[in-house]
Amino acid sequence: MRARLPWMSLADRRRWRSARTVTDLGQCMADWLEGRIASWPGYQPNFGPDEETADLVPILAAVNHAGYLTTGSQPGLEGPGFDGSHWRQRAAVDGHISDPVLLRAIVNAADTAGLFIGMQDMIPDRTDSGLIVTTVDGEPYTWFGDRLSYRDLRTIWPTIHREAFHAVGTSVHLTLVSPEFGEDGQYLWKVLEEALAAVADLDTSEPACIVCGCTDANPCPGGCAWVAGVQSAALCTACRGQAPDDLTIHVL
Ligand SMILES: [Zn+2]
Ligand SMILES: [Zn+2]
Repeated sequence: MRARLPWMSLADRRRWRSARTVTDLGQCMADWLEGRIASWPGYQPNFGPDEETADLVPILAAVNHAGYLTTGSQPGLEGPGFDGSHWRQRAAVDGHISDPVLLRAIVNAADTAGLFIGMQDMIPDRTDSGLIVTTVDGEPYTWFGDRLSYRDLRTIWPTIHREAFHAVGTSVHLTLVSPEFGEDGQYLWKVLEEALAAVADLDTSEPACIVCGCTDANPCPGGCAWVAGVQSAALCTACRGQAPDDLTIHVL
C-alpha cells in the first residue's frame, strides 16, 4: 500500500476551492465518498470514509449529489466495544442544505417517519440543541447537530473558497437521528431515499416558493398563497417578508 501523505494533494485542494455553493461542495463530498477525491478539508488528509459507513456510501453520495452536504453520519449499531463496554449507536446524519425544495422534501419525509430532526439557521432563537447519537454503558457519549460557531465551521472547512464558506455558514444545518438505537433505526437511510425520489418526481414546471420551497401540492403549514406580481420566481405569502433582495415585486 502506498503511504498516505499527511497533506491534501494540490489537485484535491483545487477541486474543493472551485466550489462556490453548498451544492457544489456536495458534489465534491460525493466524489470523496466514492473515492474520486482522496481528501476533504475537515478530515484527515488522504483518508476515505470510515469503514463503518462503507455500506452507506451509495445513499450518502446520492444525498450529497442532490445538495445535502453531509459532514457526519453513522449507522445504527449495538454491541460490545473493544474494552468490553456496551455501545449503542443511533443511525444519524448531519450536514448542510441551502436548496429549500430539497430541505422541505427531507424534513417532510423525516417527520412522517418519526425521525428526530435538528435544525439551525441564522436565527439563534430557532436553534435546536444537539441530539444524542451514541451511548456507552448507557451514558451519553456523542452528539450530532450541536450549534456550530464560526470557529467550528472554520475548523471543519479550513481551505474552501470564501463564497463557499459563506454559503455553508448561511445554510440550514440539518441533523436527522433515528429514535431507535441499533439496527432498528436503519430505516433512516430509506427515508432519505424516499425524499430524493420525491424531489426527482417533482414537476419542475410546477412553481415552488423561492424561500421555503412550498408548492400548490405541498403548501406551508397553515396554508399560503402566491404573492402576485413577482417576476421570474414564485414567492409564497408565508415568506413575503423574506424575499431575496434581488427579487422584483411589482405591486399591483
Ligand atoms: Zn414560502
Ligand atoms: Zn408557502
